[in-house]
Amino acid sequence: MNVVRRCELSRNGSNPKYGAVGWVVARDGIARAVVVAVALCAFVLPAAAQDTSLRQALADVDGVFDVDEAMEIMRDIDPYFRDRGNDGYVRSIQRIFSELKDAGFSENADRGIDRLEQRDFGRSHQAWTPLRASLEVVEPDAGVLHAYDDESGLERTFVCVNSFPTKEGGVTLPLMRYDRSKPSDFYAGAVVLGTDPAEFLFERCVIAGGALGVISSYLGEYNRPDENRDAIRFARIPYNAERRGFALNVSPNKHDVLDRLLNSGAVWVKVNIDARFTEARSRTLIATIGGTDDMAGTVAVVGHIDEPGANDNGSGVATMTAMATGYLQAIREGKLPRPRRSVTFLWGTEFECSREWLRSRPGRVDLALVIDMVGQDLEKTGAIPLVERLPDPGAIWSRPPLDVHSEWGRGDVRESDLRGSYVNDYVMAAMNIRAEATNWPVRSNPFEGGSDHESFLERGIPSVLMWHFTDIYYHTNLDRLDKVDPASLESVGVTMLGLLHHFGSAGLQRADEVLDIVLAAARNRFAVEQENAMTFLGFDAVSEDPVQRDLVLRRERQIILAWSRWYREAMLSVVNYEPDPASPDRVALEERIDAALTELRGLQRDVLAAMSGDDEDAGNGNR
Ligand SMILES: [Zn+2]
Repeated sequence: MNVVRRCELSRNGSNPKYGAVGWVVARDGIARAVVVAVALCAFVLPAAAQDTSLRQALADVDGVFDVDEAMEIMRDIDPYFRDRGNDGYVRSIQRIFSELKDAGFSENADRGIDRLEQRDFGRSHQAWTPLRASLEVVEPDAGVLHAYDDESGLERTFVCVNSFPTKEGGVTLPLMRYDRSKPSDFYAGAVVLGTDPAEFLFERCVIAGGALGVISSYLGEYNRPDENRDAIRFARIPYNAERRGFALNVSPNKHDVLDRLLNSGAVWVKVNIDARFTEARSRTLIATIGGTDDMAGTVAVVGHIDEPGANDNGSGVATMTAMATGYLQAIREGKLPRPRRSVTFLWGTEFECSREWLRSRPGRVDLALVIDMVGQDLEKTGAIPLVERLPDPGAIWSRPPLDVHSEWGRGDVRESDLRGSYVNDYVMAAMNIRAEATNWPVRSNPFEGGSDHESFLERGIPSVLMWHFTDIYYHTNLDRLDKVDPASLESVGVTMLGLLHHFGSAGLQRADEVLDIVLAAARNRFAVEQENAMTFLGFDAVSEDPVQRDLVLRRERQIILAWSRWYREAMLSVVNYEPDPASPDRVALEERIDAALTELRGLQRDVLAAMSGDDEDAGNGNR
C-alpha cells in the first residue's frame, strides 16, 4: 500500500529526483485534456434506473444539507493556519464543536444517543503557529519580497512549518546560490537560494551544513509553475531544536528577482520570523448519530483539519459539519428516519485520526467515506470532482475511458491486494444520479492512495475517497476561499448524505438494488474490456505475428480473469449490505447473488471465447 500522504506537507514525489513514488509527470494542458475526457466518460457507467430507492434517498436529503452553513464554517476557519495541534487547528475544532453542539449532539452520553466527544490521540509534539514574517532584500535594491502580519495573510505559506523565529527585528544575511557540487559546509553563515524543495535544501544546507536558512522556489508540476508565477508553496521542515534554522518558499516571480540580483553581485536579505511552538497533542472530534439496530455496524465519515488550504481541507471539514448537523436535525424533526446503522463523523489529523480511532475498537465498521478537497472551482483550479475507487484491477491495468488516473499518479497495487466490493459501483451510481440532475462533471479514478481511506482499507474495511484534482493551487498560498465553488461542494454534501441515509437504513430490498447496480457495472466492464482486447489483438503487428498474439492474449486473459474474480467478490460482498448477519432476509439475497454469479461466469466465458476467436462458443454461457 502506498504510504505517501495525499496532503503531506512535503510531497516531494512529484519529481523522481526526490522520492520513490511513481508519478505521472504533468504535461501542459493535461487539465484541459482531462476536462474533455470527463465529458466523454462521466456517464459510462449505466445510471441507476428511475424510481430506485437510491434516487429517492438523494431526493430526500436535498433540503437537508445546508450549503450556506458549510460556506460559513469555511469562512470562519479560513483565517486559521491549521497544522497538527496548533492554535488554528484548536480554534477550528472549537468552531466545529460549537456548531455540532448547537445542532443537538451531546457531550453527555447519558442524555442521548447522539454523542459528541473530543479525544487526544497520539504523542505530544511541538505544534507550530505562524505569527508574522517578512523577507526583504537590503542590498543592492531594498524591497520586500514576501510578508504577512498574522496567520491569515495571503502570503502565509512562505515560511515553512517548524521554522524557528529569528531574533526580534530580523537577521540580515548574505544570499548564496545552491550548487550541488559544493560541500554542505560551503554555506556556513548564509541563506541559500535554490529551486529544489525547501525540505531538501534544509536537509543539505542547514542540518548537514552550516547555513542558517534556505529559500526555495520549488512548485510541483501540477502547480504549473510556468503559468502560476505568483504561487508560494506550502511545505514543512522537520522540527530541529538544535539548528533552530528556517526554510522559506518564494514564488517563481520573486525567485527571478533574487536570481537577477545574484547575477550582478553580492545580495543581502533580511529575514524576520515570529512563530510560536506549543507542546500539544492532536485532538480528534468525534460525532456519532446513534443507529436503531444494535447488531448493525457503523458508517464512518472522515476529514482532516490539519493543512491551511480552503479546499485542502477546509472544504472537507465544513462539508462534513453541515452533513452531520443537517442529518441530525432532519432525524429529530422527523423528516428522515433514524438509520439502522450508527454514523460516526471524525475530524482530526490526516491518517492519525482514522488510524487511532480504529485502534480504539469502535466496533464493526461497514463503510468509510473520506472527504478531502471537495470544493474546487473547476474553471479556476482545473480540478475535477472525483471518487477514488478502492483497489480494483483498473488500478493495475488502467484502461481509458473507465480507468483514468489523476496527476497524483498510480498507487502501488498488486493483484494480491485486490478485494472485490460493491462499494465502488454503489458510490458511483449515487454520484451519477446527482451528476445527471445538476450537470456535475464527476468521474471515478482507480485507486492511488494517500489519504484516510488507506487506514480503513489496510483493515479490510471498504472505503472510498471523495476529492477534486488536479488543482493548480494545491498546497500553495493561493488555495483560499475564492477558489471554492459552493455548487460542487453542495453536490458532494448532498450525495454523501444521500448515501448515508440509504446505506444507514439498508435492508434486503435495497441490497437487491445494489446487486443490480453491481451487475450492470460488471456487464459494462466486460464489454469495455472485450473491446480493448479486440483492439489490441487487431493490430497488424499482433495479428500477423503468432508470438505477439500469444503474449497479448495472455495479458488480456489475465485482465479478464482479474475482473471476473473481483466482481465475484463484489457480488458476494452485497450480503454485507444488509446490516444484520442473522437476518432471515439474507437467505433470499444469497439466492439472488448466486444467479448474478452465474451470469458473471457466462460473461467471462463469452469474452474469453471472443478473444481467442472461438466465437461459436460465445453465447453458450449460462445467462
Ligand atoms: Zn487533504
